[in-house]
Amino acid sequence: MKTLIAGNWKMFKTQAEAADTLKQLGQALSSLPKDREVAVFAPFTALSASAKALAPYPFIRLGAQDVYPAAEGAFTGEISPAMIADCGATMVLTGHSERRSMIGESSEFVGQKTAFALANGLDVVLCVGESLQQREDGLLEKILREQLQTGLAGVDDAVLPARLAVAYEPVWAIGTGRVAEKEDVRSAHALIRDFLEQRFPSQGARIRILYGGSVKAENGSGILSVANVNGLLVGGASLKADSFSEIALGAVSK
Ligand code: PEP
Repeated sequence: MKTLIAGNWKMFKTQAEAADTLKQLGQALSSLPKDREVAVFAPFTALSASAKALAPYPFIRLGAQDVYPAAEGAFTGEISPAMIADCGATMVLTGHSERRSMIGESSEFVGQKTAFALANGLDVVLCVGESLQQREDGLLEKILREQLQTGLAGVDDAVLPARLAVAYEPVWAIGTGRVAEKEDVRSAHALIRDFLEQRFPSQGARIRILYGGSVKAENGSGILSVANVNGLLVGGASLKADSFSEIALGAVSK
């Protein structure tokens, strides 16, 4: 499986800024090894400009950061999978912890988005992760299992492994500069792998599990050396082409 290094740009970058960063990124990644894949999750408003900027760099994939689980209708402010595809993106994030905590998205709603996006042609990175309080209360396994069970509830059993990834992002490590210890990453990823193998018996071993939470060039390769870490989801350090390309090129593939 290819190692996936994905950048989440959150609510940053105008169209011109996105295009400029992607041009620099494309040039910096011209020697990207074939066993690595890079994706950028841009804001909706910058998707079309990003797709255009990425035309000379087909090795960088484009995704949106959210999606609504309906084809069209009276859903003010929402965006369908077809609209995202129409902008030139092929992927989407679901269940990012900022949406779960700040916008109040439930695991059920995240599950609807995940299944609908996959069924309508977008590849999905489903984000899961526990808060510090939940970890301290010994709820890590319960929370991850609930987010995976519900988040993947409507997904077709025959989903192609390359079309789905799970990102383990402990909430306390996102944007805080605090990176999970390798043992914490190992045990959470082992739990997720175990779940995926049971949920998707023939594909579960090949579904990528990414780690996210304060990843930088200095710690990216180390995290990728942990068992069952098949990629990285990078927030802050993906905003600049030099730091993001350093992470992508330094990524070790297993
Ligand atoms: C994220 O937004 O998914 C993330 C991991 O952010 P950061 O790398 O900034 O912690």
